[in-house]
Amino acid sequence: MVGVCDNCGNNYDKTFVIRLKNKEFLFDCFECAIHKLAPVCTHCNSKIIGHSIEIDNMTYCCNHCANQEKAHRKSFSNNLPLQFTF
Ligand SMILES: [Zn+2]
Ligand SMILES: [Zn+2]
Repeated sequence: MVGVCDNCGNNYDKTFVIRLKNKEFLFDCFECAIHKLAPVCTHCNSKIIGHSIEIDNMTYCCNHCANQEKAHRKSFSNNLPLQFTF
């Protein structure tokens, strides 16, 4: 199928369509599709191209990142009241 890549604008004769939430995207390669559509890990900012983990509406690439972020948020909220103590 001939078309213009939604990510890089390349006019290519072997583009493919990915349908996501009733929207259609056209790409010339998987790299462009990943760049444009893959979710990003909340903790390490990696593109998630395998199965992702969703906790509290946040998306993570693996259990390790989810746990790290949880620990980080916990210590952050624990430290907050201290900063406002006079
Ligand atoms: Zn492209
Ligand atoms: Zn991660």
